[in-house]
Amino acid sequence: MGCFCGQGSKMAENVLKGGLRAAGEKYDVEKFMNAGPDSFCGVCSRWGHVEAKCGSLKMPVCMLWVGRHLTNDHKCNVVGCKANAGQNCTHNVDKCVNCKGNHIAKANCCVKKQEAITTAREERCTWKEREGERRNVTADQQKEPDHTEDGGPSTADAEKKAQDDEQTGKKPEVQVESTPATEGEPSNAGTK
Ligand SMILES: [Zn+2]
Ligand SMILES: [Zn+2]
Ligand SMILES: [Zn+2]
Ligand SMILES: [Zn+2]
Repeated sequence: MGCFCGQGSKMAENVLKGGLRAAGEKYDVEKFMNAGPDSFCGVCSRWGHVEAKCGSLKMPVCMLWVGRHLTNDHKCNVVGCKANAGQNCTHNVDKCVNCKGNHIAKANCCVKKQEAITTAREERCTWKEREGERRNVTADQQKEPDHTEDGGPSTADAEKKAQDDEQTGKKPEVQVESTPATEGEPSNAGTK
């Protein structure tokens, strides 16, 4: 802090705020692009899609209670309640549209939410695995020529290669090609 002459904390604060905001925006974009099982619809309060793809646009469901209105339009009827529109309050009897439990639809204890998150996690894992496989295949295809040059995967091959190198150092490459023990070499010699 001292080296920033007192401005350090303010700078850190700004960076922190900026970073958080940026992360939030990025997350929202990703959430929209990769609408999956754990996407929560702000219109019908159900899992698995986003507002843009909601089939119940004309029949919204409040996530605080299964009222036929958008959560943002939720309003407490109790006179004198200080809760704003869209906010939950102690007068509300929480009810989940997805599991009929007595909690709001987004509550962490909701089995439907847990199911949605689990399914999403599994789907993302398989997607990642598939991506990884695809990447490995291309990597192998590109790597293969270098692979033999590196001396092979086992130490035995490496030793063999070292011996071959000693021989190739003295003798012309043509002779290496005729040696059956050097499996990796012919392709190298061929490219040269
Ligand atoms: Zn919906
Ligand atoms: Zn409501
Ligand atoms: Zn209230
Ligand atoms: Zn629930």
